[in-house]
Amino acid sequence: MIARVSLEIALRKEFDYLIPVELVGQVEVGMRVQVPFGARKIFGTVTALAEESAHTKLKPILKVIGAQTLVTPKVLKLARWIGEYYCCAPETSLKSVLPEAIRKEKSGWKKQLFVRALHLSGEFPKLPKRRQDVWNIIEERREILLAELLELAETTAATVRKLEDRGLVEITSEISERDPYARETILPTQNIVLNPAQTKALGEITKAMDKENSSHTFLLHGVTGSGKTEIYLQALAHALEQGKGAIVLVPEISLTPQTVERFKARFSSGKLQTLVAVLHSHLSAGERHDEWHKIRQGRARIVIGARSAIFAPVEPLGLIIVDEEHETSYKQEEAPRYHARDVAIMRGQMENAVVVLGSATPSLESFYNCKRGKFSLLELPERVDNQKMPHVRVVDMRQAAHKEKGTPLFSPQLKEAINQRLDRGEQTILFLNRRGYSTSLQCPKCGYVCNCPNCSLALTFHRQEQKLACHICGHVEKVPLVCPNEKCKNPAIRFSGTGTQRVEETLAKLFPKARIKRMDADTMKRKDDYRKVLGDFRAGKIDILVGTQMIAKGLHFPNVTLVGIIYADLALHQPDFRAGERTFQLLTQVAGRAGRGDVEGEVFVQAFAPFHPAIQYARRHDFNGFYEQEIEFREQLKYPPVSRVALLTLKGRNEEKVKFSAEHLKRELEKTLGSASVSGAAVDVSSTATELFGEDAKQSVRDARAPQTKRGQNLFSDLIIAGPAPAPLLRAETFYRYQIMLRTRAMSALSRELARTVQSLALPEDVTLAVDIDPVNLG
Ligand code: ADP
Ligand code: ZN
Repeated sequence: MIARVSLEIALRKEFDYLIPVELVGQVEVGMRVQVPFGARKIFGTVTALAEESAHTKLKPILKVIGAQTLVTPKVLKLARWIGEYYCCAPETSLKSVLPEAIRKEKSGWKKQLFVRALHLSGEFPKLPKRRQDVWNIIEERREILLAELLELAETTAATVRKLEDRGLVEITSEISERDPYARETILPTQNIVLNPAQTKALGEITKAMDKENSSHTFLLHGVTGSGKTEIYLQALAHALEQGKGAIVLVPEISLTPQTVERFKARFSSGKLQTLVAVLHSHLSAGERHDEWHKIRQGRARIVIGARSAIFAPVEPLGLIIVDEEHETSYKQEEAPRYHARDVAIMRGQMENAVVVLGSATPSLESFYNCKRGKFSLLELPERVDNQKMPHVRVVDMRQAAHKEKGTPLFSPQLKEAINQRLDRGEQTILFLNRRGYSTSLQCPKCGYVCNCPNCSLALTFHRQEQKLACHICGHVEKVPLVCPNEKCKNPAIRFSGTGTQRVEETLAKLFPKARIKRMDADTMKRKDDYRKVLGDFRAGKIDILVGTQMIAKGLHFPNVTLVGIIYADLALHQPDFRAGERTFQLLTQVAGRAGRGDVEGEVFVQAFAPFHPAIQYARRHDFNGFYEQEIEFREQLKYPPVSRVALLTLKGRNEEKVKFSAEHLKRELEKTLGSASVSGAAVDVSSTATELFGEDAKQSVRDARAPQTKRGQNLFSDLIIAGPAPAPLLRAETFYRYQIMLRTRAMSALSRELARTVQSLALPEDVTLAVDIDPVNLG
């Protein structure tokens, strides 16, 4: 027998190996194996078995890893799809479906010594006092860890051995499972009686779950505190009743002990009792090994984890929940660049499982899919406790800027509000979204932002070269000396970088008596820092918490009655077509932090562009309104969700080479794919055509220029190729980066074509190419 093996080194090929006699019957599809490769020993996964091979002189498999196949056939199928759709080598996608601890056999079960009382046939012997004491403990417990016994009885192993010699006890080595949550006390909870909106939503979910051989995706749209998690819990119970298991995905940052506890607590007792396994990056290799195998053995039927938990070997799988489905952290930023939400939907379809995506601010992609009838929308319009949404005030920072020199941090209104909170002993959260290197150019006086004339996106300010560039189409212009707004002409138009640190320092001067704490990636280096600060904040030891989006996530602080957003525009003018969406999401999530207790909350949004729709719709808590206007913008420029994007990034130390390679790649793509491009003159043609004749004219301009396929019709009639253009962060860590952006509805087909083009592409040795399908980060 021959086994076909995908090796863990990037070769885009599978190799045949002999199954040696001693392993016959043990090697199955999905088995992890170790094989010789040249002089090396390499790990791989068996992808197929065959009677014979086209090759001769096959080498034998050295050993198999684990007692069971590690990659189940269903997960193997999923990995194949990921390889194809996300345009990466099969071995790369296969690698991502197993935690490293499992893949590399880094860890095994932990063996420990147990002491067990034996049945005694004759009369109980007379023991010395110390030994009798030890025996009493063992007898009472029947079975006890040796280490625990030694501590309890304050004795030595030698004493216990003597009991063993007398035939009273046996000492055995057994597997002891690591439980990462062993220290938490978990009190069981029961189902809560649902309100009418919840009942309706759960009813639809369970109805879909009861349908055999079918899959269905729901989008559960409900503000924070509307009872989504309770619906998840009851849907999970339904899966267990059906004899099926489930996967719950949450963003890494929300994977706090409190979240995990809520799931464990519900299934820790009663007739639906099951182990709830947890998979995330803070577990030790040993813990991860044990959690994973509890799932593989079918003992843990519910898995809760971050992104990669979507590959957990749950079988049969009845339900997948993706909480906070709009979170960008579901996208993996290295190959395979998969999006866990989309993988969840695909897995649901492959395994006939129901998928529930939940969010207070759904992604445009998911909401669009509801509108098109691909997903079903479930809505929870109100908070369970009937609390009102906080009052949101938008403060026009152009006025504050008038009075101060430079860019002010605090408006008088916000200062006053903070003072009130300090007087009343209530808490404040201040929020500044300062991340990424790319910055836009905004006038501090009038709020004017320099946008690209072709792409309607903020231009990126390249400080060193003093130029503005669009990283989608490559448009370049000089930095204006004065604000281009005729009525303003402010010479101070230039972005003055402001970080959380400056906010903290300024606060300390303004409010010398306040207890202030900063929370961002710089101050939160160790994993306990985060917990400690939040603990102190909850305990009222901190008056004002300053932070980045880290603090925008589903935290619950009853005493926080004020939330301030220092510069709401920062997120707005990122050079990304999702900038408006991100801003809307952030403002909504941040606002949700205020007024979770008895006192109504207040939110101050400071902005230079206070009338921007993303800010205004967020102020009114109006998701639908925001969606309607945003989708119009996406339609116009054919951005997702109306189309799909593939982002090709070329990277290298020599700028000329990178640029040249990018241009070469662009020409290759045009040859193989055929399309209109959006750069230089091409833009002028189609945009003028649009102005004169509308969208159809633009389409015909494109078609006329596009090469035809053999069948005489253009495969990608809607394809737009934009760029090459310097990435917003042109030079990162001494690498120059150029990007090409492709947009089409037919992404699966495009991925296949891209894989072909990329493989036959000859790049200079020091230039690399990364393909990102459905990117969430355009930097
Ligand atoms: P979300 O996940 O949407 O933020 P949760 O499910 O966490 O909302 O619900 C918020 C709070 O309300 C939780 O403490 C939860 O136990 C409670 N809760 C949920 N549903 C109900 C209900 N029907 N009746 C009373 N309390 C509820
Ligand atoms: Zn542009």
